[in-house]
Parts: sequence; C-alpha cells; structure tokens
Amino acid sequence: MEDSDDFKRLKEAAEELGLNLEEYILVLKYSKKIRGYRSKALFNREKKRIEFRLGDPWKNCSWEIQKGAVQVLMCKLFNKKKKTLSITLMDSFLKKVHSPLLIHEEIENKILEDSFHRVNKNFFDSSMAVTRIRFGKPSKTILGKYNFDSDEIIISSILKEAPAYLLDYVMYHELLHKKHGYGSSLNRQYHTKRFKEDEKNYPMYEKIDEELERFIMKH
Ligand SMILES: [Zn+2]
Repeated sequence: MEDSDDFKRLKEAAEELGLNLEEYILVLKYSKKIRGYRSKALFNREKKRIEFRLGDPWKNCSWEIQKGAVQVLMCKLFNKKKKTLSITLMDSFLKKVHSPLLIHEEIENKILEDSFHRVNKNFFDSSMAVTRIRFGKPSKTILGKYNFDSDEIIISSILKEAPAYLLDYVMYHELLHKKHGYGSSLNRQYHTKRFKEDEKNYPMYEKIDEELERFIMKH
C-alpha cells in the first residue's frame, strides 16, 4: 500500500508545474543511502511508477521545501522548465545549509581530501563545504572546475602526481569560485576583479603558477 497522503502531495506538486501525473503511482521515500540533501527519482515506465527518493536530512524540512526538491526531479523527468515558489525556497535553503556543520562531503580520493582540508583551513577558516570532489579527465587545459549547480569540484587527473602545493593552488582557485559565485544568472562572470584580487593573496602565487605550467608541460 502506498501512503495516500504522500500521493496527494506529490500529485499537487506536479500540478503546480502543469503536469498531470494522474495515471502514475507516485511514491516518496527517504533514504540513508543518499548522502546529504541529494535526491533522485526512479521511474518505472512499464509500471507507471515514480519513486522520489530524498536523502535522509530532507525529512526534517517543511513540506514546502521538500516539494521544491521533488519538483526539480519532476522537471528533469518531464523536461519542464518552471520555477515554483517551492523551488525558490529550496534553493535559498540549500544555500544556507552549505555550511561545514553538515557532513555531506563526498571526497573520492585521499589526496583530494587532504588538499581540500588544508586549503579550507589555511584560507577559508574551514568555512567551506562542498558536495563532492573528484578527479576528472586528465586535461592539460582545464585543471579544475567548480560546478555551481551540483556544488562539485572536479580536478584534472593530471594533477594526481603533482606535488601537494600545486594541487592546493588549484583547489584554492576552485574554492574561490564557490566563494565568489557567478554574479547574476543573466551575466555570468567567473573571474571578476575581486576574484583575481583574492587569487593574488595566495602566497607566492606567481611562482606557483609558473611551476604549475612547467609540471603540465612535463606530463
Ligand atoms: Zn576559474
């Protein structure tokens, strides 16, 4: 038996997006296996069943905010681009919870983990939290990337063998992206004047920059 209260709420959430999910079985579940405030939808087309799975911490949020998370999943499933009040509420809620008090960091590699904690401690008073840090492709041109939407840092695998102080410098750059944001969504600006000023605060940044270039040329 599916919980009918959940079904009703989910149906309403869909209606706000202009979706009619009348013919679907809609289920809401909380999962300890999903880390932090993540979520996913399991869609069984044959059985016409959609299960919305939210990470355990969502349980303590008001339904208005949870509804935002569910609506984002619905938008992805049905290719909708609509921002409801709940989605806006959820967005600002998530901005606030990106604090170090919550353990929702997923760092795939010890090298990255050590670097993140060093840089965070030395330059950000350990105030930064990210959803995930991992190594990506071995790119020589893109050494790091901060993804605003998923709150994730991806570091080029080419740096796997780099000395820690070079990796830290790239980590610092990516965390600055998180700190500075991207301006308005209409005019995305990444390396602003203030960003560059902060970048220069890194000890011996010019020398490290040169060494980083040399390291990449050799690899
Ligand atoms: Zn950058």
